[in-house]
Amino acid sequence: ACTSDSGDDSTLTVCTEVPFAPFESKEGDEYVGFDMDLMNLLAQRLDQEVEVVEIGFESIASGEALNAGTCDIGAAGLTITEERQAAMGMSQAYYRADQALVVATGSTVATLDDLSGMRVAVQSGSTGETYANDNAAEYGYEVVAFESMGDIASALTAKSADASIADLATWTDMVETATDLTLVQTIETAEHYGFAVQKDDTELLEEVNAMLDQAFEDGTYAELYEKWIGE
Ligand code: GLN
Repeated sequence: ACTSDSGDDSTLTVCTEVPFAPFESKEGDEYVGFDMDLMNLLAQRLDQEVEVVEIGFESIASGEALNAGTCDIGAAGLTITEERQAAMGMSQAYYRADQALVVATGSTVATLDDLSGMRVAVQSGSTGETYANDNAAEYGYEVVAFESMGDIASALTAKSADASIADLATWTDMVETATDLTLVQTIETAEHYGFAVQKDDTELLEEVNAMLDQAFEDGTYAELYEKWIGE
């Protein structure tokens, strides 16, 4: 089943990008999170070992990493979009997501309406970037792209960016520990996360979808949702 260059049949190579808690983050040498636990379920099902390949988000989101054979599957809080469905194989949805507006604590910015003339930080290749670009003219801000959420957080605290638009769940997690950042507005975009496989790997795609079906049915999904997302 494994067509990746980087592994063999006993290995499930997983492309991801961190930090993107609660979906993926690194604790010591270990990758943990909602996505990682679902990948462990998939590996169990396939009788394989997970091997994580950390790589830039944009190369996962564009399909470049997968289609070059860098890994078997992308697990990166990836929103299902038509463009990505054309570039890769995308699984069924496993998480409903929105965007959020985050600023440095003490900022006067409270909503998108306050962003005129400001620099809005986004992650390169993300749906947050697309949203920010699509609405830049209306609100009069400038979009500045960064490689990772960590870089965005640093830019906000260093005041080299005035605000950021990125996924709500990850921002919610990040502002819990970073008191110098504040989440000021939820932006409902009604996105859905999916896992991505190489364009022609229908075999693995079927296994991912079957893994999710089973996890939805037997309560494992609910358990993992409670563990990582809560509520
Ligand atoms: N869900 C967003 C996207 O797919 C952001 C994901 C991420 O930054 N890891 O573009």
